[in-house]
Amino acid sequence: MLDIVADARDRMVDVHIARRGVRDKRVLDAMRRVPREAFVEPGMEEFAYEDSPLPIGAQQTISQPYIVALMAEAAEVKPGDKVLEIGAGSGYAAAVLAEIADRVFTIERIPALGETARTRLRQAGYDNVSLHIGDGTRGWPEEAPFDAILVAAGGPDVPQALREQLAPGGRLVMPVGDESGEQSLIKVTRTGARFHEERLGGVRFVPLIGEQGWAEDGSRAATDHRPSRTRSLPEMIAEAAEPLPDFDDPGFGALFKRFADRRVVLLGEASHGTSEFYRARAAISRYLIKKHGFEILAVEADWPDAAAIDRYVRHKPARLDGEPPFQRFPTWMWRNIEVEALLDWMRTHNVGVAAEKRAGFYGLDIYNMHGSIAAVLAYLDKVDPQAASVARERYGCLTPWQRDPATYGRAVLSKGYRKCEEAVIAQCRDLLQRHLDYAGHDGDSFLDAAQNARLIASAERYYRIMYYGGAESWNLRDTHMFETLEHLLEARGPSSKAIVWAHNSHIGDARFTDMGTARGELNVGQLCRQRFGDQAALIGFGTHAGTVAAATDWDGDMEIKQVRPSHRDSVERLCHDSGVSRFLLDLGRDAALRHRLLEPLLERFIGVIYRPESELLSHYSDVSLPQQFDAYVWFDETTAVTPLGPEHARPGAPDTYPFGL
Ligand code: SAM
Repeated sequence: MLDIVADARDRMVDVHIARRGVRDKRVLDAMRRVPREAFVEPGMEEFAYEDSPLPIGAQQTISQPYIVALMAEAAEVKPGDKVLEIGAGSGYAAAVLAEIADRVFTIERIPALGETARTRLRQAGYDNVSLHIGDGTRGWPEEAPFDAILVAAGGPDVPQALREQLAPGGRLVMPVGDESGEQSLIKVTRTGARFHEERLGGVRFVPLIGEQGWAEDGSRAATDHRPSRTRSLPEMIAEAAEPLPDFDDPGFGALFKRFADRRVVLLGEASHGTSEFYRARAAISRYLIKKHGFEILAVEADWPDAAAIDRYVRHKPARLDGEPPFQRFPTWMWRNIEVEALLDWMRTHNVGVAAEKRAGFYGLDIYNMHGSIAAVLAYLDKVDPQAASVARERYGCLTPWQRDPATYGRAVLSKGYRKCEEAVIAQCRDLLQRHLDYAGHDGDSFLDAAQNARLIASAERYYRIMYYGGAESWNLRDTHMFETLEHLLEARGPSSKAIVWAHNSHIGDARFTDMGTARGELNVGQLCRQRFGDQAALIGFGTHAGTVAAATDWDGDMEIKQVRPSHRDSVERLCHDSGVSRFLLDLGRDAALRHRLLEPLLERFIGVIYRPESELLSHYSDVSLPQQFDAYVWFDETTAVTPLGPEHARPGAPDTYPFGL
């Protein structure tokens, strides 16, 4: 008989535990020694070696052997350890732990179960186990600290008392979940004053009922009085979240009044094709322009294209010789009805404003080298035809590559073509040196020409170094964008204030994301913080799911794609789990929340390309949210932007004006 039981136990360990990945020999040996049949209800012995939880009365269960082994392995229980278990239940897991560790302390809240477990443990000879009947969420302070703590019931969060009772280097393993019953097995490791937390996978346990767990009726126990550590992050986010009204409600922009005294307010986006991000940024920008005198709206668009739009919003004559703006991939990024509505608003708003105070629309980006060359030549043709012919000659070096500048770098590097570096730098320098002569005519036009000349010099270098890969070309582009912003602020005077629209990857301080920590990249947000300090506000945007306008490959067609529900270990999932559908989260207000969010979490970056199939690898990065941004704007479900097409042409207006002029 004894042999039969020992065989059954060995089979259970081999088939259900070792084969499923538990490797710790000490744990496997312990499981081979503990007589599980002695811990089940009378009459259930024959099921003792099946890998399933079994009823032990009072609606409780003896844990599934695999889970007991998994938790013991994760908690790295070893000889010499002092271990605390919460939820003694039948006493079986305590016996397994007692086979490995020196001393085991176990707590059970239901007296009848606790008494039976105590008797069984004694009868089975486990005299290194002490059992206490009471609320285990408070731990066992008289015996603390513990090298390992295992909690055999699921709570809303890791109880603070248990964290405090971990020895330095100690490990705690516990299921944590929400009211829906979805739980994750969490491992917390204490290193000095810090706690490192990791998720081990999904599990299902009976509830942990007690002061720092759930109330008997399944609700949260004493929520209001628990320290923040015992509240879940989604719960804390829900409390700190300030719900957002409709986009057209004046209250929307007014929520951002707290940032209105900053020199620069940077507004991000988590994709390049989400309507809600455009409409929210438009509502905030309208408010800042109208109520707080912001004059600069600088966006992640090419300078010469944005300049054509700027002439429209500031009632300046259109340049008839230029190409229509935003013809280049990805056209939907600026040619969409959301942007068009804001431009119309700016144009109308500017009617009643003195010409030099009108809010302008500017581009920070460097890609339209061709458009910039045309703009510099057109400018010089007007103000200095002799200089124009010199410029024509110099820029001629780039002529073969103008339409497809990406091939320029390769040609210079691999085929020994002449570099145009000196020519474009000399042209830029010459133009800037004539500042006093030229700007006398028209400061705005000079600024436009100077920025185009700077763009050409930056772009020449950008395309050249692009072929080396690495961070350098990214850093050059973001530095150019930042310097353009500085030139704008300088040109519009010491009291001028700017709003910036760019992707979260440009706006969120790179030093606190994989960009800075792993790839050596900087960005506009970081440079603004370093230059303007508290005078810069960095505001990120995010979403859980919905649709987005994006392409599958560079230069591909725009598609409306489904955004996958956010990853379970992401910032986005925490916001989704808060249950609040759209909100502003001020990351500077709630110190406890800020502190809890400091540890790295995943964050999703969708660009003009979105590849849902490889999402985790291609679109998620680690970030420390409260250091990356000063505030975070959330829309749980979002929709794709509507690109401008002929169907949106308005009666009486030329086709897609101002885009089509
Ligand atoms: N480890 C046990 C075994 O091997 O049989 C199984 C534990 S059972 C899944 C969970 C146990 O946790 C139940 O007996 C339940 O009464 C107990 N429990 C729930 N909340 C508790 C608390 N706050 N303190 C102590 N025990 C608790």
